[in-house]
Amino acid sequence: MDRTEVMKDKKRIVVKIGSSTLTHPETGDMDLEKMERLVRVLADWSNAGKEVVLVSSGAIAVGRKAMNIKERPKEQDVKQACAAIGQARLMMVYQRLFAEYNKITAQVLITKDTMINDTMRRNARSTFSRLLELGTIPVVNENDTVATDEIEFGDNDTLSAIVAALIHADLLIILSDQDGFFTDDPRKNPDAKLVNEIDYITDELEAMAKGAGSDVGTGGMAAKVSAARIANDAGADMVIANGADMNNLRRVVEGQQIGTLFKAHRNADFHLINYLMKDRAE
Ligand code: GLU
Repeated sequence: MDRTEVMKDKKRIVVKIGSSTLTHPETGDMDLEKMERLVRVLADWSNAGKEVVLVSSGAIAVGRKAMNIKERPKEQDVKQACAAIGQARLMMVYQRLFAEYNKITAQVLITKDTMINDTMRRNARSTFSRLLELGTIPVVNENDTVATDEIEFGDNDTLSAIVAALIHADLLIILSDQDGFFTDDPRKNPDAKLVNEIDYITDELEAMAKGAGSDVGTGGMAAKVSAARIANDAGADMVIANGADMNNLRRVVEGQQIGTLFKAHRNADFHLINYLMKDRAE
C-alpha cells in the first residue's frame, strides 16, 4: 500500500519514546541531543498545524540517575520515589527544549484507575482536547508514583495506545531500538526479515512477537503488538520505527517505507473500557 496515501491526512499524532531511546546506554544520563531533535520535529509538526502528543518514559531512569542508584530498584517505594524525582526533571528538560521553539508543553500523568472510571476518563479526554486546541504539546506518562503493581499499565507502549484511542488520534508512532517488527529476533537470526506492513494482527503474529527481540525497556515487541491491536481497533494507524535517528519521525509522516505499519481498521465494537478491564477479568 502506498504509504504517502496512508499518511497524507494525519492530523492528530501520538509519539511514544522509551527510556532506552532517551538515555545514553553507557551512563544512563539523558541523551539531550536526541531529545532536542525529537522536540524540534514535534514543534515543527505543531507549527504545520498538526496536533501532537508525546508519551515519554524515563521517569524512573532519570530519577535513579539523579539519586545515583546503580541498579534498577526492585522495591516499589524506591521505584516510586525515583519516578517522582525523575518525572519532574524530565519535564523541566522538555519544557526548556520546547520553549526554544516557542511551544508550551503540559504534563499529563495517567493511571489505569483514572482511565477505568467513566467520569475521570471523560475529563481526561476533554482536557486533552482543550490542551490541543490551545496549541500545547502534552507530555504524558503513567503516574508511577501512585500506581501500584496491580493496577499499573506497566509499559508505556500500552499507555500510548490507550492515549491514542482516548483522543481519537490518526497515527501512533512508537520509537523503538529496532527498525520495526521482524519475523524473528534480528540480533539472533540473520535471516529475520523486517515486515513493512501488517494488515491484521493474528494470534500467530502475536506469538511471533513474543519470540522476536524484546528491546531494553519494559515494553518489548509483544507489548508493541498488543499496543497496535488497541490503536488499530480504535482507528489509528501505528508505526514502529527506530528512534536512533529522529529523522525517522519525519520520514514516517512523509510516507516513506520505514519501520512497520500496522494498519487501522476501525472496529465498530471498540470500547476503550473493554481493553482496560481485560486484564482484570483474567
Ligand atoms: N513509566 C515508566 C517511567 O517513566 C516507564 C514505563 C516503560 O518503560 O514503558 O519510568
